[in-house]
Order: sequence, then structure tokens, then C-alpha cells
Amino acid sequence: MSTELIDRYRQVKKRVQQACEEAGRSSDDITLVAVSKTKPDEDILKLLSEGQLHFGENRAKALEDRMISVNEVKAIWHFIGNLQTNKIKYMVDRVNWIQSIHKKKALKEVEKRASDINRVINVLIQVNISKEDQKSGCEPDQLKGMLEYAQDLKFTKVQGLMGMATFADDPESVRPEFKLLKQVRDEHIHLNDGSVDLKHLSMGMTNDLEVAIQEGSTMVRIGTAIFGERN
Ligand SMILES: *Cc1c(COP(=O)(O)O)cnc(C)c1O
Repeated sequence: MSTELIDRYRQVKKRVQQACEEAGRSSDDITLVAVSKTKPDEDILKLLSEGQLHFGENRAKALEDRMISVNEVKAIWHFIGNLQTNKIKYMVDRVNWIQSIHKKKALKEVEKRASDINRVINVLIQVNISKEDQKSGCEPDQLKGMLEYAQDLKFTKVQGLMGMATFADDPESVRPEFKLLKQVRDEHIHLNDGSVDLKHLSMGMTNDLEVAIQEGSTMVRIGTAIFGERN
């Protein structure tokens, strides 16, 4: 069981490395976020001892519980799911990255809670790149206002954009969505100032990490290929 986990993990590292080579990029530029969801803490501890540091959860309560039960200072925690503003206060004392900020109100809440405890939180703004789900991120035309607002924040660092592609079996079919996220980033990069530095693009999951890396991803969020199928 655990050798399978480590084998799968090494396979994923290989896929990332190969995709980088083919795209003429350095694998140092890609952060691999292991998305554990319902899998046991034990798996996370094994991956930590294998050198994996970044872990993601898509549910606020699951992340909160996980950060406490794993309780490893070297682990770097990402929240990647649908974010309700009223849940921010429960994660802010331990989370390192919130990837799914989609409105100014959430930025404001992160800033308030983070400043209360004098802690800096990295965030990504989630942009809706899939035409299917209206709720997954802000619209590209809302981004400018959010970034201008974020420039003056002190405890909230906007490090880039995150996108969720449409669910599809054929990774080629989501290439235009990854291209769109990169294009939206390029169109807003002139707003880099103060606490805004759009250097990251979080895109790519188990099925489409190669295409995402070809299109400029700097963070891939991988669940199934590392932890195995979920129920
Ligand atoms: C579950 C999840 C992932 C990982 O998906 P896999 O296809 O299992 O790799 C990535 N991002 C988000 C937001 C998720 O909810």
C-alpha cells in the first residue's frame, strides 16, 4: 500500500519533469501540490518523509482538521476549494496559501484575520476559465478591481491566479482554458505593485498536468495520480 503511494508519487514527479523538459522549462519552476482530500494522514506523513512539502485540501473543515492532526511545521498548506468568507477565520492561523479567492470581500477578510495574528498569507485569485461553472472564480473583468485593492494590503500577498478547467477526458480540450488564464495574467501583470505579484499560475490536475505545464503553469494540484482513486 505505502510502496504504491510512493511509486505513484515518483511517477507524478517524473511526469512533471518530463513535461518540463518537453516544454523547455525547469522543473524547479513547478510547485507540486499534493491534494489529499479524503485520504489518511498517514499518506501525508509518508509523502513528507519523501520530501513532498505542499499539500492541498478543497474543504475548509477538512483542511482545518488536517493541519491540526498532521501537525508538521514543515508542511505547507493550501486551500484550493470553494471558499466561503466566513470560513477564513478557521484556517488563517495555519494555512499558507489560499488559492481560491474570488471576491474583494474575501481579500478583506483574509487581511483582517491575518493582521489580527500578525501572519502573512499567500493567496491566488481564482478566475473562471471554464464556461461551465459560474461559481468557480471571478470573471476576468473583475480582476483589475481586486488587484488594485490588494496592492495596499499588508498581510495578504497576491502571488498569482488559479483556474479550474472543465472536467474532460481529453486534456487537449482544456488547452484553450489554460491559455486563457495565462492571457488574463499577462493582461494584468502591469498591476504588479505592493502586495500584488502575479508570478504564479495554478493550473493542471491529474489528467492534464502536461498540457498545463506547456501553457505556463507554475503550480499543479494533483490528487488521484498520487493518492489513488477516491470513493
Ligand atoms: C480534487 C482537486 C484537485 C486534484 O484533482 P485530481 O484530478 O484528483 O488530480 C485539484 N484541484 C482542485 C480544486 C480539486 O478539488
